[in-house]
Amino acid sequence: MSTRYEIAERLEIVRARIGAAAYKARRDASSIRLVLASKTQPTDAIRAAAEAGARDFGENYVQEAIAKRAELADLTEIRWHLIGHLQTNKAKTAASAFSLIHSVDSVRLAEALARAQPSPRVHALVEVNLGAEASKSGVAPEGVAAILDAARGKLEIDGLMTIPPPSPRAEAARPYFARLRELRDVLAMQSGYALSELSMGMSDDFEVAIEEGATIVRIGRAVFGERA
Ligand SMILES: *Cc1c(COP(=O)(O)O)cnc(C)c1O
Repeated sequence: MSTRYEIAERLEIVRARIGAAAYKARRDASSIRLVLASKTQPTDAIRAAAEAGARDFGENYVQEAIAKRAELADLTEIRWHLIGHLQTNKAKTAASAFSLIHSVDSVRLAEALARAQPSPRVHALVEVNLGAEASKSGVAPEGVAAILDAARGKLEIDGLMTIPPPSPRAEAARPYFARLRELRDVLAMQSGYALSELSMGMSDDFEVAIEEGATIVRIGRAVFGERA
């Protein structure tokens, strides 16, 4: 694992890069939330990031997240996000364990989360698969409206999330980020949802995502170092 100092230092650097990207895009840096992707990271790494001021952590697996949250129960100001795929049979558990679920990708899952009815209501994003051949998770753009309809009055759908096909070049992700924003604009007009959140951008491409309108970036390796 990286040392506390490495994590604190890299977090500072990532924050500065977010600030610079926001400035370049003439956006307010405070409108961009940093979620640290902490899958496979030990709780000591999460604690180090929290001590350096990080507040939002994104996990990929429900059980791993719940175990870590229990270990870090003293860090009461932390918010947990689910950024990985969610199976319908774990919806009830997930509904009360996360402040934002980024990966709603079917009507069935939206209905299962709605049935769980935790209080307060679940906040979620619809994960959109814009690179059909390259990624297995997410719903096709044509399928988002049906999920919004199924969630109406039951779930708080705050926006959209996407993971572009992997590429060594950050610029290769730009068209996907732009398409997510355009899809949001159309759906917001048609559906009555504001869909103000765009969760897009990871370690290798978050600056491009910010230029294209990301309000949430999900960053792992740039802060925690390479995963084991
Ligand atoms: C791991 C992960 C990230 C972060 O990826 P890095 O390349 O480590 O920044 C972001 N989003 C999701 C859904 C992930 O699984």
